[in-house]
Amino acid sequence: MSCIFQSGVRFSAYPDAGLASLLVRWIGCQRFIYNGKVGEDHLYAAQRRLLIKSGVTDPDALKTPLDQEYSRFKSRELSPWLYDVPSQVLRNGAYRWMCAKTRQLKGLAKAPTRRTRKNFNSVMLTNELFRFVRSNGEEVLEIGTEKNPVGLLGFKAHRPYDLPRTIVIRNEAGRWFVSFSYAHEGDRIVREPHEVAYEINGLDDDVLDAATIGLDRNVRDNCFTDSTGRQHKIEQVNLDRIARREKGARRYQRRMSRTKEHSANRRKVAQKIARRKNYAQRVRKDFTHKTTHGLVVSETRLFVLEGLRIKGMTRKPKAKRDPVTGKWLRNGARAKAALSKKILASCWGELDRQLQYKATWHNKLAVKVPAAYSSQECSRCGHTHPGNRDGARFACQRCGLEAHADWNAARVIKARGIRALRKGVYDAPKTRKRVAFRRKDLETGGSPGASDTPEEMSVEQTLDRLAA
Ligand SMILES: [Zn+2]
Repeated sequence: MSCIFQSGVRFSAYPDAGLASLLVRWIGCQRFIYNGKVGEDHLYAAQRRLLIKSGVTDPDALKTPLDQEYSRFKSRELSPWLYDVPSQVLRNGAYRWMCAKTRQLKGLAKAPTRRTRKNFNSVMLTNELFRFVRSNGEEVLEIGTEKNPVGLLGFKAHRPYDLPRTIVIRNEAGRWFVSFSYAHEGDRIVREPHEVAYEINGLDDDVLDAATIGLDRNVRDNCFTDSTGRQHKIEQVNLDRIARREKGARRYQRRMSRTKEHSANRRKVAQKIARRKNYAQRVRKDFTHKTTHGLVVSETRLFVLEGLRIKGMTRKPKAKRDPVTGKWLRNGARAKAALSKKILASCWGELDRQLQYKATWHNKLAVKVPAAYSSQECSRCGHTHPGNRDGARFACQRCGLEAHADWNAARVIKARGIRALRKGVYDAPKTRKRVAFRRKDLETGGSPGASDTPEEMSVEQTLDRLAA
């Protein structure tokens, strides 16, 4: 049995000014259709809830239609601009929503939400809207329908590529990229995580120990330490560059405050800021890709991470109010914002995400274990006490083990992962129960989804969690 794999390549693209402004419009129109479908989905969900409330028990009575139709969002009066773009661009917007909705129905993702310019900055084109042509001896993309081409898009292919059926053109902080995506049959078989867990669980203790790596994430120094004692860190030269660009961004931010609203100048300055901020993102992504690649191609078969709830840790604290006087009290929001920034800058979530999918790809397993007290526990004798820890040093009060605190924590996490594996925590596939509505929302009228968001932590709690 073979699997269908999705893969792709991404190249820098160089549209001229005319094509760039056209592509920006296409992106906007595709987003408009996508958001239209999202809104419609919300409407159906609200009606379903009303039906259930009035006693209709069949939750499928008002299903959101899973289709690519978009004509109802097109109106000469309200959205005349949609008539200027090729219909395939709009249909692909509906198609992108359909894919997102399908993922939700399969239990792979949350419901599709409204997107903005920030998180929907690309346009997907199917092969009616592009073809490869030669211009000045180079292969370039001709964008538009065959009858009505709109421009040539040059790109820099830094590796060989096949002819794609769909392409995605993306604008990131003023830079353009084109990605070619492929779905092809692979010759290798990718197994389910619980099958991999079963297989690894069959290993002898010492073999499993050698094939397991625990990873500890250190926010203070912005690095990862694995249980072999190796530190993974963004290179200093890149950190210096990030700092320099942040400084530059602050300078342009001040300049932007003096520009006139909606002026061309303001747009230019905004782009300069975006570029500078984008640099840090690119460095971090590059770092996580290199780190996770290095990990999955090694001999290791089990990766153990600490399960931290990044969302709750970095959420803004709720406003506090004095119950008697009604005055607003300090809630530590600023202190927490600084910490949140550091947590997010350490690319935790991204490392986790990439390690998960890359491990699956290589038939390896990446798991998460509870992180509580991992830095106070001795990796040799298991003695857990706050006194064991002194800054970056770890010294066990019972058995006298002395080590770097991160290395000790990584070993504790590794041991926890092995214990959980032996206990069979990762064995059985989780069965997901689909719930048509949430009882709590019905009673309180609260916003749907509020109940399943992670709880918010105070600065102290977050620090505790980190120190633990
Ligand atoms: Zn000890």
